[in-house]
Amino acid sequence: MRTPIIVGNWKLHTLRREALELATGVATAAAGLGGRVAWGVAPPALWIGPLREALGAEAGIWAQNCATDARGAFTGELAPDMLREAGASGVILGHSERRHVFGEPDEAIGRKVSLALAEGLDVILCVGETLDERRAGSTLAVVHRQLERGLSAVERAEADRMVIAYEPVWAIGTGETASPAQAQEVHAGIRAWLAARWDEPTSSALRIQYGGSAKPANAAGLLAEPDVDGLLVGGASLDAESFGAMLASAAG
Ligand code: PEP
Repeated sequence: MRTPIIVGNWKLHTLRREALELATGVATAAAGLGGRVAWGVAPPALWIGPLREALGAEAGIWAQNCATDARGAFTGELAPDMLREAGASGVILGHSERRHVFGEPDEAIGRKVSLALAEGLDVILCVGETLDERRAGSTLAVVHRQLERGLSAVERAEADRMVIAYEPVWAIGTGETASPAQAQEVHAGIRAWLAARWDEPTSSALRIQYGGSAKPANAAGLLAEPDVDGLLVGGASLDAESFGAMLASAAG
């Protein structure tokens, strides 16, 4: 039985006061869920510490990125242990904006994944195809390549600290959502790949989120699919009521 996990990716939004208000609203919405849903937020890194103080130890607080290296001459970067010390419980890696806007290659994402795990952060690894790749029929080949390289140094024993997020690039921030059947098809392909990479019990225990214009109106349909174990939410996570409605959908 996989506990669904819903995480709000706030991207480059919120000043400190807005972040605190939003997080408090989300915590209030989550208060009645009684552990049926794991939830978290991924604020701008500056607000990780203040949110950890405001939300206490239980909330999932995710960084949106981290460095490939633990220390060094890497101006502007943040190492996983710095994020952990600030209060982060995990980090989102390989988000499509990191891949396609900032040009992060698969190999750099793989280095980040293994460093983050080694430094005590949980990891959401995002994978997903562009529209051209989908039209060319290479969705699963792309996703499998991203998994292969993103998880290249991850041991089976670390898999329980990982979440995979399937985020088709054509659905992120576009208002266009994958249908539940489209999401399920790729999630099943990811789970089969994970079973071959590690083993069936490990693959069955690992949660696979969907992300891409998820909102209250489509959350229940997506979450009803057998291999959709949660949502990574961008735009709709900036409103506590919308995010709360998706938490309620996941709680069933
Ligand atoms: C995301 O940023 O991970 C995302 C899925 O964004 P949106 O929900 O806005 O498409």
